[in-house]
Amino acid sequence: MPAQLLDGNLLSKKLRAEIAARAAILTAKGVRPGLAVIVIGDNPASQVYVRNKVKACEDVGFHSVLERYSAELGEEELLARIATLNADPSIHGILVQLPLPEHIAAERVLEAIAPEKDVDGFHVANAGALMVGKPEFKPCTPYGCMKIIESIDYPVRGARAVIVGASNIVGKPMAMLLLQAGATVTICNSKTRDLAHHTKDADILVVATGKPHMITGDMIKTGAVVIDVGINRLPDGKLCGDVDFDTAKYVAGWITPVPGGVGPMTITMLLMNTLEAAEKAPKH
Ligand code: NDP
Repeated sequence: MPAQLLDGNLLSKKLRAEIAARAAILTAKGVRPGLAVIVIGDNPASQVYVRNKVKACEDVGFHSVLERYSAELGEEELLARIATLNADPSIHGILVQLPLPEHIAAERVLEAIAPEKDVDGFHVANAGALMVGKPEFKPCTPYGCMKIIESIDYPVRGARAVIVGASNIVGKPMAMLLLQAGATVTICNSKTRDLAHHTKDADILVVATGKPHMITGDMIKTGAVVIDVGINRLPDGKLCGDVDFDTAKYVAGWITPVPGGVGPMTITMLLMNTLEAAEKAPKH
């Protein structure tokens, strides 16, 4: 029996309607949520991502600013720009699109964003707050994955959750969110021995490795919730996930497609974080 599809576009549509309604109320009170997006260099994927983010802002009635700079922009100039946005009351969220050119230290840049405007949730203060269970902002991708799991009322408490991938932006924060929701969590990385032994034990399996089709149906527990974070472009130009959808769908109970699963939810949760930043912002 094939798995039920977890449709990120459909869930996003519902959540974005709620966000638009809350934004309209806030705007009527004189506070229009505002997001600044900075992109440096001409990486085509980054250009697509930032365009989608700005368009999503417009669709829910936010104010948005897109700043594009050449790959030659100096680190100090970028830090100065962030300082200006930190002090700008019309901007509630600041996002610097990664990856950055090599001469710019991403860590320094992410730390320069005021934590109360760090809607990506990548600032070390926000990562620490998440660790102790008091996140100001949850990183958008894991937050979106949690919303997908909530949408089917899956009983996370006591469930066995396995995360394949341990990056700071996906795997580790995902583990924290699932742990705080009461799951028993295992985090796997590229050094994990007998990966299938772990993945086959998972009631909830989240995969974020950047390795196309690496999790096949025989590595999945029957009836599991499978969340595929991966976005990989194949030589024929098609997008695919880190999970081999064609074999996984016969074993999983629920599964996210790629595209149309986690991807749209990431942008939706960016909008949610920006809205919440605006709701919490001091009145001017
Ligand atoms: P990173 O490259 O930063 O991290 C990959 C992680 O996967 C590492 O922890 C690595 O282990 C682990 N890994 C790699 N190969 C294996 C393996 N064979 N077995 C077990 N673990 C492995 O990637 P990101 O977390 O940034 O992104 C992961 C994927 O998610 C990418 O495809 C990316 O495009 C996608 N993505 C999608 C988003 C969305 O909105 N849908 C948002 C962000 C990312 P180790 O630590 O040992 O190196």
